[in-house]
Amino acid sequence: MTSIPLIQLPEEPAEPAITCSTCAACCCQLEVMLITDTGVPERFIDTDDWGGEVMLRLDDGWCAALDRDTMMCTIYDKRPLICREFEMGAPECITEREGIATAYR
Ligand code: SF4
Ligand code: SF4
Repeated sequence: MTSIPLIQLPEEPAEPAITCSTCAACCCQLEVMLITDTGVPERFIDTDDWGGEVMLRLDDGWCAALDRDTMMCTIYDKRPLICREFEMGAPECITEREGIATAYR
């Protein structure tokens, strides 16, 4: 019987892992509505044009609760429900990361 030689295929280059720890909080420029009370401090709460409560954003668009040195949430334990449910690696996350491609490490 003739044996078939095995061909070594080149390895696929590994995709960079999507993780918040290598991301400059790209999703923290989105509008975040406060739909439940999670204890967000008043100083970080704003009112939108329709009277709804949202996270306060600075003039450059970033959430006021974001630590700009570490790009970490300063109210992580009290962050809004929407922030809790924003899923790392989900299509929305990938879209945000692509939108700020130079911002993540
Ligand atoms: S955009 Fe995705 S990876 Fe970046 S901080 Fe938000 S959830 Fe994490
Ligand atoms: S509350 Fe925290 S997690 Fe939510 S947008 Fe602001 S900084 Fe990001």
